[in-house]
Amino acid sequence: MATLKCSRCGQEREAVTNVAFYTGDVKDKLMANACQVCWDEWIKMQIMIINEYRLNLMDPKTDEFLNKQVLAFFNLDGGAKQASVDYVPPEGAE
Ligand SMILES: [Zn+2]
Repeated sequence: MATLKCSRCGQEREAVTNVAFYTGDVKDKLMANACQVCWDEWIKMQIMIINEYRLNLMDPKTDEFLNKQVLAFFNLDGGAKQASVDYVPPEGAE
C-alpha cells in the first residue's frame, strides 16, 4: 500500500487512489500529495461547495473553480484562499 506525507494533515498516510474527475496537473499533484483520509474530507467539502455556490457541473468554469478549491484545500496552490467569498457564480450558467 502506497503512503505519502500528506500536504494537508502533514501525516504519513495511505495515498489517495482515485481523485474522481480531476485530471492533468491537478490530478498529478493530488496523487502525489493527498492522503485518503483528507481526500474523503475534501469530497464532503466539495459537495458543500457545489451546493453553496450552486455550481453547474456541466460548466467548464465549475471545473476551473473546483480545481482551485481542491488545490487550496491541500495547500498546493501557493497560498490562495480556500472557498473564496469573492467568488460570484457566472450569471445564467445553467
Ligand atoms: Zn492528509
